[in-house]
Amino acid sequence: MIETRKAAEEIKRAESLALACHIGPDGDALGSMLGFGIAARNHGKDVVASFGSPFVVPANLSFLPTDLLVAPSDFPKKPETMMVFDAGSADRLGELGSNAGKAGTLIVVDHHMTNEGFGDISLIDSSAAATGELVYELLELLDWEIDHQIATCLHTALVTDTGRFTYSNTKPETLRIAAALVEAGAQPAEIGRHVYEETPFGYLKASSAALSRAALDEERAIVTAVVTDEDLREAGIDWGDIDGLIDTLRLAEEADVAALAKVHDDGRVKVSLRSRGATDVGSLAAAMGGGGHRLAAGFTVERDPEEVLGEIKRMVEDFR
Ligand code: AMP
Ligand code: MN
Ligand code: MN
Repeated sequence: MIETRKAAEEIKRAESLALACHIGPDGDALGSMLGFGIAARNHGKDVVASFGSPFVVPANLSFLPTDLLVAPSDFPKKPETMMVFDAGSADRLGELGSNAGKAGTLIVVDHHMTNEGFGDISLIDSSAAATGELVYELLELLDWEIDHQIATCLHTALVTDTGRFTYSNTKPETLRIAAALVEAGAQPAEIGRHVYEETPFGYLKASSAALSRAALDEERAIVTAVVTDEDLREAGIDWGDIDGLIDTLRLAEEADVAALAKVHDDGRVKVSLRSRGATDVGSLAAAMGGGGHRLAAGFTVERDPEEVLGEIKRMVEDFR
């Protein structure tokens, strides 16, 4: 449902807005939330923004204007008006899911195909390349000016969710919005450098360890790999530093699907899935209790990682 007008009315009415995005935020989650938050603050709203633990901004996104961020423990327990960005379900909010449950009015801005709708007002459009696109349209309807900070946030959202405008979700409208954001002051070269061109040396070490163990199942056209907390510790990096690894794994041309199992010390295994087009990994992830888009999705389980990857290998053919 796309209730942009209803969302705009509620936003205009509200004096304060509490914003949240999905845990382990990416460029679209942080960019769309902070971009909207800055615009709302510019219009006199009392704004806070946060995301569930671990409350750490990934290093490659720390150039974004983050002064609206508060720790999840400081987030209003019963916000009068709360907005959620880029989260396909309430459980993607981590501990802030309980704040969302108690919010007076909950507005959900999202583009996941697996979003079945939650909250009171929905701005959910799975044809949008990024949640940042929906925020742009909301700001247009509100007639709120887009300054260079907002433009930087929203451009980052678009760049990251479209793979630098190369994925099939990139539409003419996506590029028109990107052009408007550049006109408003977003600097593509600078954003690209921060997001894609800088990584700690340890990332090379951890990714080479993980990639050296990667396996290709040519028959089922799937490439899989495992990266562990131990790999990261040895390389001296964090989970937020390893987001780009799936993009290297998916380069294997023999595979339609890439599956990366990120194994945490506490037993959680977060699986990232990517498809070149023949496999609907969004539905596959949903079948495993997660969600996402047709070509990019994920889920989290507490199981043996090799066993989970084995199950995914057996499942892929059913989602083609
Ligand atoms: P990632 O592999 O973490 O980059 O995520 C790819 C896509 O799948 C993103 O749109 C995520 O929001 C979504 N996704 C990842 N993990 C989950 C999960 N556990 N539950 C629902 N959606 C997920
Ligand atoms: Mn996201
Ligand atoms: Mn997104």
